Amino acid sequence: MERTLVILKPSALQRGMCGEIISRFEKKGLKLVAMKMYRFTKEKCAEHYAHLVRKPFYPIIESSMMAAPVIVCCWEGIDAVDVVRLMTGSTNGRQALPGTVRGDLCMSHQENIIHASDNVENAAAELDRFFTESDYFDYPSAQFNYLYAADETD
Ligand code: ADP
Repeated sequence: MERTLVILKPSALQRGMCGEIISRFEKKGLKLVAMKMYRFTKEKCAEHYAHLVRKPFYPIIESSMMAAPVIVCCWEGIDAVDVVRLMTGSTNGRQALPGTVRGDLCMSHQENIIHASDNVENAAAELDRFFTESDYFDYPSAQFNYLYAADETD
């Protein structure tokens, strides 16, 4: 089973969208295996957005991510990284397709309400950034045998 990181950004908390967003991933069939509230520091923000720290808009990313707490969560499922990215939609909320989280719930490039890992390697590194092994919960999924066909879970 693959695992991916989703961060409900400060804009998701402030706009009261957390339940809606979590509900979408639950309904899809992804399994929630870790979740906590977290407050970004400057250092953690620079680590998480290392690929953007030299961009002119980085100060806006930093202030936006530190404006309120976030919720970090780990979702598990077959191809979870790609499934969650598809459901997230493209970065700019104004260009994200309807039906996606960003396409349905936001209007901004920066205030795009969630972060989702973009590939399997980054997902592993990002999960290690926010969670330790004891944060993960191992429990049987009641719907597992109805979510996947037998040959998909071998
Ligand atoms: P994504 O979050 O879709 O993986 P990136 O990794 O490129 O996209 O960017 C990380 C975050 O930085 C975006 O979600 C967005 O909040 C912010 N961001 C990226 N590019 C811009 C931009 N041109 N203007 C404002 N904010 C941006």
